[in-house]
This record gives sequence, structure tokens and C-alpha cells, in this order.
Amino acid sequence: MTSVQTKPAGAEQDARGTFDSLDPATDEVVGTYPIHTAEDVAEAVARAREAAAWWAGLGFAERAERLRRWKGMITRRVGQLAEVVHAETGKPHADAALEIVLAIDHLEWAAKNARKVLRQRKRSSGLLMANQSATVEYQPLGVVGVIGPWNYPVFTPMGSIIYALAAGNAVVFKPSEYTPGVGKWLVDTFADIVSEHPVLQLVTGYGETGAALCRSGVDKLAFTGSPGTGRKIMAACAENLTPVLIEAGGKDALLVDEDADLAAAADAAVWGGMSNAGQTCVGVERVYVHEKVYDDFVTKVVDIAGTVRSGSDPEAKIGPITMPAQLGIIRRHIADALARGGRALVGGSDAVGDRYVQPTVLVDVPEDSEAVREETFGPTLTIAKVHDMDEAVAKANDTRYGLGATVFAKRRGMELARRLRSGMTSVNAVISFAGIPSLPFGGIGESGFGRIHGPEGLKEFARPKAIARQRFKPPMNLTSFNRSAKTDAQVAKLITMLHGKRR
Ligand code: NAD
Repeated sequence: MTSVQTKPAGAEQDARGTFDSLDPATDEVVGTYPIHTAEDVAEAVARAREAAAWWAGLGFAERAERLRRWKGMITRRVGQLAEVVHAETGKPHADAALEIVLAIDHLEWAAKNARKVLRQRKRSSGLLMANQSATVEYQPLGVVGVIGPWNYPVFTPMGSIIYALAAGNAVVFKPSEYTPGVGKWLVDTFADIVSEHPVLQLVTGYGETGAALCRSGVDKLAFTGSPGTGRKIMAACAENLTPVLIEAGGKDALLVDEDADLAAAADAAVWGGMSNAGQTCVGVERVYVHEKVYDDFVTKVVDIAGTVRSGSDPEAKIGPITMPAQLGIIRRHIADALARGGRALVGGSDAVGDRYVQPTVLVDVPEDSEAVREETFGPTLTIAKVHDMDEAVAKANDTRYGLGATVFAKRRGMELARRLRSGMTSVNAVISFAGIPSLPFGGIGESGFGRIHGPEGLKEFARPKAIARQRFKPPMNLTSFNRSAKTDAQVAKLITMLHGKRR
């Protein structure tokens, strides 16, 4: 996937320092937003500093209460928010509602568990320091910058926003230039619940506004988007040694073993590959199938994919490609696959239109072609036959990415899942890990690093604070110039007794 465009097609910029958010199905203007400058961003971060101190001072219980009230408000207004998501991304209303429902569940989990995960805990102080009481607690970082993508404009940034807020931080959020209205909706509703201070703020604009947020001195920058932009984010954050969390793209594989439930696997492959028009970071892009069940599986996939159509009418199961520039990439991947001996069993070169892409299922595609190696981000699948599951694992792992993965197998499901080089794997279901709030979410390699969701996601937005408190005077004072030769001899004896036995 290509990285940032200064002025993307699909969003119009004018001389007044604003840009328009467009409906990708019609190009109708659905909102106009400011292009925030570096000064605007700096002011927002300065306001956030004060808000952060207040929010942290509220403590876990009061923060949980506020987050739950926000959750209630979002839940009561799901339809309204889904409408904004639909207008800005083009995805069907029901799909928009689904990503909001998942985010709501994460809100509850983070509110409920923040104290349990981050509170002060005792640690063993060891024999040498037995006079000390040792504790660790997870304190808020301060101000967290969140930069989001457009494909899941609620679920994805909320994976950072919710966990950062629950850990006691203030957040400055820059949504994608394709979905500023969704960002505004989230920030405005939060302000209805937390009106005292600007704990969650919005800045809008293109890559330059995001870059200003990286350079603003925030205490951490949580980024979700393409690997190319991730590199720029890291470079900008490096100037202030600002730590970063990178949630980037993927080329996720689905494995089908000989004993798998083929109907379920085919259903999962088609939904995992085609839902949201394939614009899913953890969407299925490649499928590796045991040779014994390959033909049967492919027939089932073709049957199901034939029932999926993209369009803007209520019967269409998938919507338009949100970012027009992506159409060229999808077209190129399909053309390259076909030119190199691949065959399209569904869709093909005619599948890519002006706004919509029809489902495309490709077989016999060489492993080194773009459709297998690069993130396509369209409703396409490549299916390859393998001799055994070792070959499937080797091929699935032969990628620069490593975000999610799926295994369909009865006997060897857990073993294969463990061997896949990915941050998350679901067995006998697709993308299920994303809907389980207690599980960490994130990638390896070009898919990024750091984790959102679960206890790991809370700790990502907190710093461990170690405190050693002396309970009584030590029998041997080691940290004093008054230490005697006798003490040194005693220490040498003690350490030999404790650690010197094994040869
Ligand atoms: P993108 O990288 O083009 O943009 C993401 C965000 O970064 C936008 O808000 C954009 O304005 C901002 N940005 C662009 N240039 C910047 C710069 N130089 N400095 C700071 N900010 C800058 O990505 P996208 O097209 O919005 O999203 C699609 C990508 O996101 C895909 O690769 C997809 O796989 C990935 N994604 C990953 C996850 C995950 O959790 N791993 C989730 C959703 C999407």
C-alpha cells in the first residue's frame, strides 16, 4: 500500500485552510474541516497537558465511571455514528454498526480492568535486599497522540484511544483525512461526558498535521496506517525520542488442513477476504489449502464468492473502495497475477471499476507475484495448493508482514497457529481475536510493533514506576563509604553460598 498523499483524491482542499470530506460512493461533500497547522497542534497538546494532570488525578474509579457513561452514549447512538461512518467510507450501515459494537465492548473491558492491571503491586525484594519493600505501579504517560486510518475509523483508533484514556492519559487524535467526521463525532460525545477539561481533542488535516503531532512533544504516538507512513512517523518521533506504537498493514494467510470443516473454512475465507471490500488490515488475502481437499474447498469458495456483489444499493454486501488511489493497486495486482499464469475463477481484470471492485478469486498465482506479496486491500483472494501443512506454514510465513492469520484444522489447529509468524491467529473462525478485548492486538515485521487491547494495551500507555522503600536498617550497609572490609567479606561469603554451588 502506498503511503501518504499530500492532497488525496477524494478530499478537496481550498485556500481557506479547510478540506472537504467526500462520500466515496457519490463524491458528495459530507463535511468541511480545518487543516490544523503545527501551531494549532502545539496549542492542543499544551491544553492536553493540563487536562492530563486533572484526568490522572480522578483515579481509576472515576475514570471508569466516565468511560462507562461514554459507552452508554455511543451505544444509544450507534445508528447515528454508523451513518457518519457509512457516509465517509461507503461501507454498508450494518458493517459500520459492527465495528462500533466491537469498540463498545473494548470500552467496557478497559474501564473494568484498568485498575486491576495497572495498580501498585508488591515484588519480591530478594535476600540481599530483604530489608526493602519493593513495588511497581503503572503511571499514565501524560499526553498520547493518536493517528488513525480510514478503513475502520471507529474500531481502529479506539483501540488506542480507549486504552490510553483508561490508563489515565489525555489524547490528541488526528483521524484520517477521509474520516474526519467520525473523529469529530467521537471527540464531541466524549466532551459531553467529560466537559471539565479537553481530555480528548481532535486535530484534522493531512499528513502534515499528523507529522506536527509527531513532533509536538507528546509522550507517546500511537499510529495505525500503512508501513510507509509508519516509517515517516518513527523518523519524526525520533527527533524528540518520542516512543511510538505502530499498527501497520498485513498480508494475512488462511490455512486449510485436510481435516478442516471445509464449508466453514470457505465461508470464513470469503468473508475474511471480501468484507469491507477487502479494506481490512487483518483481512484474509492469501489461502493455502491441503492438496487432499483443495478442489472441494475451491468449489465452495467460488460458490460463496459468487453471491457477493459490491454496490451502493441495500442488497450489495460490500461498498466502494474508500480511497480512489487504491483502485490502481488492486487493478495492478490482478493484472500481474493473470499475466504470470494465474487464473481468475471469480471476477478478474474487469472486476475493478471506477469506484467499486467486484470479488475476485485467483488460483495458480506465482508466490513471488504482487498479488501474493503486497497488501492488496481489495476484495481479492489468492488460493494455492500445498502438499502438506509444513509447506503451508512456510509459505504463509514467507512475508515481510506478520499481523493476523487463520487456521482451519481439527487435529493440528493449535500447533499450526503457534508456528505462524503473526501477532494474532484465530483457529476455526476468522478475525475472532480482534473481538476479544482481553487479547493483545498488533503485528511483527512490516506490520509494526507494540500492542493495543487487553492488559498489554493498557501497559502500552503507562510507564512502570518502581519504588523500593526501606523497612528497617540493613544488617550490612552496602551503599555507604562506611562499608567495612568485614562487610565485604560477609557479602562474598553470602553470595558464594547463594549462587556459587552449581559448577
Ligand atoms: P496511511 O498510512 O495513508 O494514513 C494513516 C494516517 O497517517 C492518516 O491519518 C494520515 O493522515 C496520517 N499520515 C500520513 N502521512 C503522515 C506523516 N508523514 N506523518 C504523520 N501522519 C501521517 O494509511 P491509511 O490508508 O489511512 O490506512 C490503511 C492502512 O492502514 C493499511 O495499510 C492497513 O493495513 C493499515 N491498518 C492497520 C491496522 C492495524 O491495526 N494494524 C488497522 C487498520 C488499518
